Amino acid sequence: MVSFPTEGIRPDPGAGGRGLDRGPERAAMVAEQLTARGIQDERVLAAMAAVPRHRFVPAALQEEAYADGPLPIGYGQTISQPYIVALMTEMLALRPTDRVLEIGTGCGYQTAVLAALVREVCTVELVEPLARAARGRLGALGVLNVAFRVGDGREGWMEQAPYDGIVVTAAPEHLPAALGAQLAPGGRLVIPLGGRVVQQLHRFTRGEAGALFDEESIPVRFVPLV
Ligand code: SAH
Repeated sequence: MVSFPTEGIRPDPGAGGRGLDRGPERAAMVAEQLTARGIQDERVLAAMAAVPRHRFVPAALQEEAYADGPLPIGYGQTISQPYIVALMTEMLALRPTDRVLEIGTGCGYQTAVLAALVREVCTVELVEPLARAARGRLGALGVLNVAFRVGDGREGWMEQAPYDGIVVTAAPEHLPAALGAQLAPGGRLVIPLGGRVVQQLHRFTRGEAGALFDEESIPVRFVPLV
């Protein structure tokens, strides 16, 4: 079951004549961008049909909020393409009882998708004003199961470890050791790895005996983990 709180949501100044919620645009996004490309996890599809993506993009880009691509969010950073958010979330194979660590809060959109699927999300962002804005947005949407931290995500968030899932939305060259170390037995870690222009999406799974099992997925383009 996916629940996303809608009570107490403030009127949306950017919605114009489209209706407050823009549900039909999200339904089209889910059908045309996600289901059509092979995303199958029903809980992920439901979460992305529920989370109001337009509330996470800058006012000047409201028209493009449900478009099939990334968008700038300031500070040289981006909100990821919906398909990439869906794919990375699906690869995490999340259960409602899981606790998840996200590195790269950005605007907080993927944070909100994750928060709809699991018990608790811990999210780390390097750029303080982005973290502050994301916290404000999620608070306004009534999302309460998120803990925020400003800092270097390469270190993870040791005090809250271990995690059943870890997702990194900025790209390092190699897997930071601290992140692998904070993964619970059976846990999944999804991360883009590679150079500054193009990277490969990986999923590391921690076996019950402790070893990390590495699977490669599609090529992706993320901003670097700095
Ligand atoms: N999931 C985000 C994507 C944000 S882009 C969204 O849906 O909007 C990647 C983010 O990673 C940026 O906000 C960037 O500031 C952040 N970032 C880059 N290097 C980082 C680091 N070392 N630690 C934490 N966050 C970092």
